[in-house]
Formats: sequence, structure tokens, C-alpha cells
Amino acid sequence: MDDTVDFFIDEFRKNLDSEAEPGRYFSPRPYRNASVRFRECSIRDFETRREVLINEAGLNPFLFRSDIIPGCDLLSDSGTTTMTVKQWVAMMLGDEAYGSNEGYFEFKDQIAATFGEEWKSSPVTEGENIFIFHQGRAAENALFSILRKMLRGHSGGGISDGLIPKLKDRINSVMSSLEEAAREAAYIIPSNSHFDTTEGNILDKKMIPLNLPCREHIENDESCNFRGNMDTGELKNLLENESEKVPLVYLTITNNTGGGQPVSISNIREIRDITEKYNIPFFLDACRFAENAWFIKQREPGYSEKSITGIVHEMFSYVDGFHISLKKDGLVNMGGALVLKNGARFDDAFPGFRERVIDHQIMTEGHPTYGGLTGRDIKGVTEGLRTIVKESYLDCRIGQVERLGKQLDGHGIPIIKPVGGHAIYMDMDRFFDPSGREEFMGISLTALLLIAGHRVCELGIYAFGHFDGKRELPPDPRVNYVRAAVPRLCYEDRDLSAFVESVRILYNNRDRIPGVNVEYGRELPLRHFKSRFSFK
Ligand SMILES: *Cc1c(COP(=O)(O)O)cnc(C)c1O
Repeated sequence: MDDTVDFFIDEFRKNLDSEAEPGRYFSPRPYRNASVRFRECSIRDFETRREVLINEAGLNPFLFRSDIIPGCDLLSDSGTTTMTVKQWVAMMLGDEAYGSNEGYFEFKDQIAATFGEEWKSSPVTEGENIFIFHQGRAAENALFSILRKMLRGHSGGGISDGLIPKLKDRINSVMSSLEEAAREAAYIIPSNSHFDTTEGNILDKKMIPLNLPCREHIENDESCNFRGNMDTGELKNLLENESEKVPLVYLTITNNTGGGQPVSISNIREIRDITEKYNIPFFLDACRFAENAWFIKQREPGYSEKSITGIVHEMFSYVDGFHISLKKDGLVNMGGALVLKNGARFDDAFPGFRERVIDHQIMTEGHPTYGGLTGRDIKGVTEGLRTIVKESYLDCRIGQVERLGKQLDGHGIPIIKPVGGHAIYMDMDRFFDPSGREEFMGISLTALLLIAGHRVCELGIYAFGHFDGKRELPPDPRVNYVRAAVPRLCYEDRDLSAFVESVRILYNNRDRIPGVNVEYGRELPLRHFKSRFSFK
């Protein structure tokens, strides 16, 4: 009898280890639903969606009502998380005190548990080091506006001849857009790739965001495991020549461009070594830190046996500070933070910075002990940070994004590979015939998918290009994608499969997809959020 049971256990185990394939699952999700939201609309109601899309939303997915989307809403993975019951229970215990609510202290302890003891708050001896904000960009705004004020008086001067021509060109092109006074004291903030709000905040403070993505990323190398890396040769060149103009080096994990491409721990370590040599603080944009750690565990030699928390601790041991949008790997619908490491270079470089952040918080967010969040929000984040590093969760989460990529790829639909952690990017330049390349075909695809019942967004020549009054200028380097970002703990594979079917129908009939006219907003900044279109 025992033998028979052993036989079956062996069989069950072998089955679990089989290679996953679309439509067939070998293991269940590591959670089950505790609450569901019924959709009060039908997938068959194409006519209502057509009517609303054309007459109300002007073909703009941001303006389309979410209550009539019966399929997958893949507009963003930011703040769209389904929370766990433990989070909801924690939120019930939210302490809405004006000063020093209970959750604030638990949150600070959780920061140390998640990122390492070096991040532990000791406000009495060191000054506060953990600053809550209502979302990631508010933390960015505080960081860069205070930095700018503290840097005033230093002077940059001209750009060194020792710089690689490519970098010099990129710096000069941003410089030329600054006013003369700002040009004199232009500081440079390098990164593997800045997120758009980070870039916006840096530019707004008359500093120069400089992206140094690795060569494999630029060359679209599909065999590269860590396409999110920074080009450290370029960083060295920059610091050899212009270190006095660089107040801070940034690294985005995972790298959002290209759908959450991971950064390797050896890249992080190398950047630490380089920044240490020049005594420049090193920060992470840490929105998807847990997803990045999962990729390190899967792909980086020597890490397969380490725990996710162990890898996170190592990643964060190399940096002086980070900012995070908790709407991603905080597993909540709203929240952000700026965190400084005690005793790190940043404190020496910017003495008095911490006091200024507190002043900034009081003026823009509220008392620092709630920083723009409610007491219950803070409780929810604290619990979310405990869940996000669970390996079973990450296997399921990133595995799902990967299966979605595989399904699309299986139909020949051109996507960026390897697939990243949180989204799939479909490449419009390969999806459509070259003759349609300047026709905003990404907008057309997005609109027709909405009629099918699913929402994605164009991040291509419309979102990133601009109109100079006469001509359209596509982004340089050219990117022309439509993004499907997968919310956390929200959809089942069956839902995503239905989305893939709609894309497949459109792809197979792509010659019939019309272009669009821009009815409103072509010349506006951030135009993809606001524009209206009509089908040609
Ligand atoms: C979302 C995001 C931000 C900004 O955070 P918000 O909470 O949306 O303000 C910054 N950096 C990266 C990499 C992001 O993905």
C-alpha cells in the first residue's frame, strides 16, 4: 500500500515539474479568491463600447469608463492590485491619529525587515530616515526639489571633451532646452532609464536626466537575461570627466522601459564600486524590487538557493537611499516613500537634507507620520510588504506575465523578449506594414481592443513623440509599443487568454485596421493622456 502511495506521490510531483504550456496548468495558484467583483456589463455588448469609445472617450483609453470593460484592464499595473484579506483586516485596524499613528511605527519596522537592518529608523540619534508620501512621484518631487535648492551656488560650466560623443550629444540636447542661467549650473542625474515622472521631476528642477541603458537593451538582444542593466562603461566615462556635476546616480529596478527588464546584482555591485570611487551617492528607484529579486534568483549564477528577502537585503546593502511607489511592489492602491540609509554618503553630501524633507512633507503632504496617507493605508502597505516577497506569489505573478507573452508570441504577434516582470510590449513597427508606421497605428489597435472589451495603452510614437506645429517628430531612439500591463493578483489566465484571442483577431486582419485622425491635443505636452481621435 505504501509503495502505491509513493508511486502516486512521485507521479504528482513529476507532473508539477513539467514545463508549463498555454491552456494547461500543473499547479494551482498559491491563493484563492476571498472576494470578487462582478462586472455589470457583458462582453457581447460591443455596441455600447463602440458608442462610448467614439462619442465620449474620443478613442482615448484613459477617458474610457472602466465600468464597461468586461475583459482585462491592462492599462497599468500601478495601484490596480487586488489586496489580500490580511491587508483588508490590517486596514480595519488603521489608527487615524493626527500624529504618530500606530501603523507608522509598524511600517518603519517593516522597512527594516524588508530591506535590511541598515534601513532601521532611529530618529532620535540619526534624524528621521523614512519619509512617507502619497505616491512615488511626490517622493521624487521632494528629493529633486530639495537637492536643487541645496546645489544652488555650485557651478557646472561647459561639458568636458573627454566625454563619449553620444553622451555629450544627449547632454547638450537637454542643455539647449534650459534657460541660460540654468545651463551655467546644470547637474546631471544618470540612470539605466528614468521613469517618465522621475525624468519630469529632474527636468523641472533644471537638471539633466541621462539614460545609460546597456547595449543589449538598445540592440534588442533577446538572449540577454538582464536587459535592464546600466552601461557601466558609460557611467565610468561620465564620472571620469564630469563627476562634480553628478550629485546622485540612480538605478531603476526593474527597468520599466521594455516592460520591467531586470537588473543584475553584479550590475548593482559594480555601480556601487564606481560611485564609491567618486564618492557620489547611489539611489534606487525601487518600485518593483521584489520582481527584480525574483529574476536574480532565477537567472544570476550563485543566487538560486538564496531567499528573496536575502537577495533584497543584498541589493539594498549597496545603495545609499531609494524611493518607491508602493502602488507596485507595495501591493496597495496608493502610497510612496523616500528612504535614506543611516550613515551613508548621502548624509555627508547633503547635511540638513532630512530636516528639509520633513518641512516639504508638512507643506505638501501632511504630518510626516502619515505623509499623505490615511492610517489604514499605512497598515495595508505594511502587510503588503510582507506578502510581496513570498516566492510562491512571485512565481505565480511573473509566471503569469510570461505565459501571456508566450501565448501572444505563439500567434506570431511581435513582442519584446525576453518578457519582463509586469507587462508585455507589442511592437507596432513589426505588427503593421512599414507603410503605416507614422499613422499612430498603436492608437487604432488600442481603440479596437476596447471595443473587444479589453484595455491597453499606446506607449509609442504618440505618447513619446511630439508635434512641432508642422511635423510629427517620433521619439529618438524610436520606440513604438502598445503595452499590456498586468495588475497584481487580479486576473486569471483564462481572462488573459480572452485578451490574447482579441489581439490575434486584430493581428490576423491587421491590413484592415484604419489609421486615426487627431481631433484634439496633438501639440500638448503629455498628450496621450488628454488627446481625442477619430477613425480614418
Ligand atoms: C510608477 C513609477 C514611478 C512613479 O510612482 P507613482 O506612484 O506612479 O507616482 C516612478 N518610477 C517607476 C519606475 C515607476 O514605475
